[in-house]
Amino acid sequence: MQQALQRSSLVPRGFVVESAYYEDGKAVVVVRASGSVGLCPSCGAVSRRVHSRYRRRVTDLPLSGRIVELLVIARRFRCDAVLCGRQIFAERFAEGVLAPSARRTARLDSIVYHLGLALGGRPAAGFAKRLMLPVSKDTLLRVVRRRSRPPADPLRVIGIDDWAWRRNHRYASIICNLEKRRIVTLLPDREPATAQAWLAAHPTITIIARDRGGGYGEAAAKACRRRYRSRIGGI
Ligand SMILES: [Zn+2]
Repeated sequence: MQQALQRSSLVPRGFVVESAYYEDGKAVVVVRASGSVGLCPSCGAVSRRVHSRYRRRVTDLPLSGRIVELLVIARRFRCDAVLCGRQIFAERFAEGVLAPSARRTARLDSIVYHLGLALGGRPAAGFAKRLMLPVSKDTLLRVVRRRSRPPADPLRVIGIDDWAWRRNHRYASIICNLEKRRIVTLLPDREPATAQAWLAAHPTITIIARDRGGGYGEAAAKACRRRYRSRIGGI
């Protein structure tokens, strides 16, 4: 059965494609976030008030033998929380999609990391060039070093809620680190089984704040019961 190829399926999740063109031998894809709100990194308040827009250029996975550059139309939001010291904040994207100030998407960064790990700096840089991944030897080594460090703070307190990819469209689940006021990840749907599997893979989480819907509570309870049983079994 044939299914239409959505342009947005070619770019990292959470982005929609505005346009695409070739420039100096590269494929440039203009994207913006599909969500309509921003989450203040200082206080965690949700904002819909856009202050301004700016452009970020990041490299993504190559396409049809060409280097791909995402031209991200990112937003700055106003934070209206009374006690928050930050008035304006730049839009952030989910961890595992695009880190703040990153020059590569997370999925490209992951490939660069594995290449560097497998082949070492100079051979990996040569191979990366043949794969249309424009990274230098120094960048490869930097990525390997950065990713090899264990995360400083394990996840402990999270919030989980519904998230619309587009208004009245398809629903996913958003998971936030409530201690750091940051989006951790977007799960592809809002099925309890998906949330339960994600929670089971993050055993350091001790507190889960959820919406009033029953699905997430059920997933959290199941993940905790499983963890408890495995601990009892290990005694
Ligand atoms: Zn704020």
